[in-house]
Amino acid sequence: MVEVTEGAFASDGEIGLACDWHCRRRGGGCSLVEHYTLTSTRCDLHHVLAGFLVSFAGMVVVHELLHVAVHPMSGRSPHSIVGFGPSIGFYGHYSGEMTRNRFVAILLAPLVVISFVPLLVAAVAQVTSGWVAFISAFNAFCACADIFDAGLVLFQIPATAMFASRA
Ligand SMILES: [Zn+2]
Repeated sequence: MVEVTEGAFASDGEIGLACDWHCRRRGGGCSLVEHYTLTSTRCDLHHVLAGFLVSFAGMVVVHELLHVAVHPMSGRSPHSIVGFGPSIGFYGHYSGEMTRNRFVAILLAPLVVISFVPLLVAAVAQVTSGWVAFISAFNAFCACADIFDAGLVLFQIPATAMFASRA
């Protein structure tokens, strides 16, 4: 059997790197046959699952922090609350009063920054990335409630009104 070096794994790209990690955990390199078996089965799955979980958790944190960044005083006010609840996960909340337009901006900031900006950058730079497309689409899906709330607020509350969120 042909021994595959770390360099060979690395040159196989991302899945190879995931496999490399797996093989090192087993205490050494693996043969070429093992490498491709692992790559096509366990490593592939590990890679996709780990990538999904890390991306999802990271995306939720960044999403919530982007809401907070648009709070009055950029989130440094005592009314800005960032926390973690077992049932709702990581969240950011503003307990004080704000203008209607500020509230709409808070609601839509993660959608614009995580879903729209990377797509625009990818289009302008002429690059494609499956993960960027996935994160963009998944964030847009997670922002459904934000979009719905922004629509309600825009159509039902006058622009000059002050707003205090109860949620
Ligand atoms: Zn949101």
